[in-house]
Amino acid sequence: ILSNRLKLITKFLPKGATFADIGSDHAYLPISVCLSDPTAKAIAGELNHGPFQAAKDHVKKYQLTDQISVKKGDGLDVIRNDKVSQVVIAGMGGGLIQSILERGKDTLLNVERLILQPNVDSQYLREWLEKNNYNLVDEAILAEDGHIYEVLVADQARDHQVNQLTKQEKLFGPFLLKSRNQAFITKWERERDNYRRIIKQMGQAKQPDQKKINDYIEQLGWIERVLN
Ligand code: SAM
Repeated sequence: ILSNRLKLITKFLPKGATFADIGSDHAYLPISVCLSDPTAKAIAGELNHGPFQAAKDHVKKYQLTDQISVKKGDGLDVIRNDKVSQVVIAGMGGGLIQSILERGKDTLLNVERLILQPNVDSQYLREWLEKNNYNLVDEAILAEDGHIYEVLVADQARDHQVNQLTKQEKLFGPFLLKSRNQAFITKWERERDNYRRIIKQMGQAKQPDQKKINDYIEQLGWIERVLN
């Protein structure tokens, strides 16, 4: 059975999606989508041999080899010779997702939608999206098994009309900031405690980096205001 996290991601794929799931692991996500939508087509990309083999075995077991092609490769290399309209990258840190997007950005020309699920550091992704002609069109946040996950949905901007986010919107997420659900509150209560600890530790360093400390203090102020 699909986790609530992966289920949430699938909601942002249209019917008849032609998509790639990069870092697909067991290919659970494309299998679930293709079982419920026989018109969907997917590429499951994996860098590492173990998960690649597991994905291949799973796709075969579910008799979905016509709909899902499992490919071994680094990041977006696996879509270089195919036309995909949506790309999912889930279950990794925001920094790693960003580096995968950056290294493969020439493959994204015809990709209409990116669905990204960073475990941490989603602000880097919002920054990258804005710089690379994608508009955030939706976001979601959920708690599962003690972890909090964010989902970012971005569509390629037509006519290069990209909405500019404020620094605060990049940190919190413009849609998440508006809805402020329980998972959001829990996340930022945890982050507030992290920031306080980090600021204290940085202040105790032999040669404190005052610029960095000030950045953290500024962001802590935003967090405290959002929580009040
Ligand atoms: N996407 C699945 C999910 O959200 O449940 C699996 C997440 S798993 C934690 C991360 C997967 O990404 C691993 O299977 C790993 O082998 C793969 N991976 C890491 N770096 C990658 C890269 N540069 N290209 C393709 N796959 C990668």
